[in-house]
Amino acid sequence: MTASRPVPACCHDLEGGLVVSCQATEEDFFSDPSLMAGFARAAVAGGAIGIRANGPADIHAIRQAVSVPIIGIQKVPQPSGKTVITPSLEAARPLVGAGADMIALDCTDDGQRNGALTALRRIKAELRVPVLADIATIEEALAAQEAGADFALSTLRGYTPETTQYQTFEPAFIAELVRALRVPVMAEGRIETPQQARQALDAGAFAVIVGSAITRPTEITRRFVAALRHGHQSRNAVWVGIDLGATNTKSALVGSDGTMSHSSSVPTPWNGGREPLLDHLASVADRCLKRAADEGWSAQAIGVATAGWVDSNAGQVVYATELLPGWTGTPIAAELERRLGLPVAAENDANAAAVAENRFGAARGSRDFVCISLGTGVGGGCYIGGRLSRGSHYLGNALGHVCLEPEGLPCSCGQHGCLEVYANAGAVVRYAGDPSLDTAEKVIDAARSGSPAAREALRVHARRLARGCASIIHVLDPQMLVFSGGLTENNPFLVADLEKELRPRVSVWSLRRLHLCLSRLGYAAGVLGAASVAMEPPGVA
Ligand SMILES: [Zn+2]
Repeated sequence: MTASRPVPACCHDLEGGLVVSCQATEEDFFSDPSLMAGFARAAVAGGAIGIRANGPADIHAIRQAVSVPIIGIQKVPQPSGKTVITPSLEAARPLVGAGADMIALDCTDDGQRNGALTALRRIKAELRVPVLADIATIEEALAAQEAGADFALSTLRGYTPETTQYQTFEPAFIAELVRALRVPVMAEGRIETPQQARQALDAGAFAVIVGSAITRPTEITRRFVAALRHGHQSRNAVWVGIDLGATNTKSALVGSDGTMSHSSSVPTPWNGGREPLLDHLASVADRCLKRAADEGWSAQAIGVATAGWVDSNAGQVVYATELLPGWTGTPIAAELERRLGLPVAAENDANAAAVAENRFGAARGSRDFVCISLGTGVGGGCYIGGRLSRGSHYLGNALGHVCLEPEGLPCSCGQHGCLEVYANAGAVVRYAGDPSLDTAEKVIDAARSGSPAAREALRVHARRLARGCASIIHVLDPQMLVFSGGLTENNPFLVADLEKELRPRVSVWSLRRLHLCLSRLGYAAGVLGAASVAMEPPGVA
C-alpha cells in the first residue's frame, strides 16, 4: 500500500521499521546530550532504524553517535504555558545544522492558527529537508498534506482539546489516516507494547515511532510500581459510588467488600440541562474524594449510575428521557475524568443495581438472573451466562415495556399496554380504588393491617406482574428473579403472591428451579452498583 506513496529518498530505509524517540524533559535525570546519545546508540544496537530527538544539542550529540536518519524537533514553550513543536523556520534551522535529516512540527489546529502551514512550506523550501506533520485528526493531516507535508504522524492524538478522549493507542485511527491521505503515515503516540507497534504496521503505517515506553526509565518504573500496587490493593482502597436519579443523587464511599460510608443524598438539579448536571456530579464526587482523603483512604475510581441508556464502554449517555433534559449524548466519563483526575465509569442505573446484586446482594454467584425494580417506573437488569447483558445498542433490559395489553393503557414510552403501567406504584393505587389510599405505600400498609380490599389490590398487581415475568422467564430461563424498589418495601405478600400467579403461567414450571426473592440492598443498590462498575467493568454479554 505504501509503495505507491511518494517517499523522499532519505526516508526509504525507515519503511516497516522502528524509530525511537530519545527525549528527556528538563527535570529528567537523563537531560544531558551525552546521555541521550547513549540512548540512541542503545536503540540502534537493538535494531531501531531512526531516531527522533529534541533540540540542536541532543541532535548534535546523537549525530556523532549513530548514522541512522534523525527526525529533529524543537519544543518551544509559549507564553500561554503550552509547548509547541517546531513552530517556525527559525526553530528548525539549527536542527538541520546539528544533523537532523528531517523536521517534524505541530500541524494541529492550534499549530495551524500559529502559522504552522507557512512554517512547513518555508522549512521545506529553504532547508530542503522532508517535513513531517504531527497531527491529532484527519482534517489536520489533510491540511498539512495540502501544504506539502511528506509524512503525517499521529503524535498529538489525545493531546489536543478536541481529542482528549483518546487516551490509548488506536490502530483504527492509523487505518483511517492511511485511507484518507496520499502521503505515508507514521504511527506515534501512546504505543506501549511491541504488539501495538505491530498493529500500527498492520493498519498501514509506513513506520512506527516509540518514545516513553523505551526511553523513559522513570515512566517505565512507575508503570511497574502501579501494577504491583494494583495487585496488592491496601485495605484503605475505596471507590466513589454515585446514583444520579431524576429526583435525588445518592453517593457513598464503598470498600472492596461492599461496606459503605459517608452516604449522602442531595436533590438533583434535573431541569438545568447538561452543564449544571455535570457540575453537580463533579461536586458530589469531589465531596466524596475529600472525605476519603480526610479518612486517609485511597480513592481508586468513580462510578456513576444514571437514569437513561448508557454506552458503558464509552461512558456516555446514549439516550435519556425528558426526566433529565439535555442528558442525551453526555460523555459522563470523559468529562468527569478531566475534572477529577481519576478513572470514571458510567452505567445505566438498573444495570448498575444488577451488578450490585451480583457482587454483594441476593444474586451473589448467580450466573443467570433478572433484577426487576418496581417503583414509579418498572426497570431491570439481566445477567446471562455470568455477564451483564446490555444489548447491542445499550438499549436492552427495558423490561417495563414488555407488552401485556395490546389495546391497553398508554405508557410513557409512547406504546400502549406496557408492563410498567400495570405493575408500577400508580397501578397499585389504581387497583385499590380508594381515595384515602393514594400511595402504594398506604395500600401495602392497609393490606398488612388486614384490609381485604387493599390485600386484593396487591393480588391483582401480582397477577399482572406475573404475566410480564412469565414472558421474561420464557425467553431467559433465569435461576433467579430479584425484586427491588418502593413496592418491595415492607411488603411481605409480593413473593408468595407472585409465585402462585407464575406457576400456571410458566411452562414446565416443575423442572425449573426458579428462585424469587427481594433485594437486600434496597436503596443502596444504585450506589453500590455504581461503585462496583468502577471497581471492575462487568463485561458485556
Ligand atoms: Zn412502555
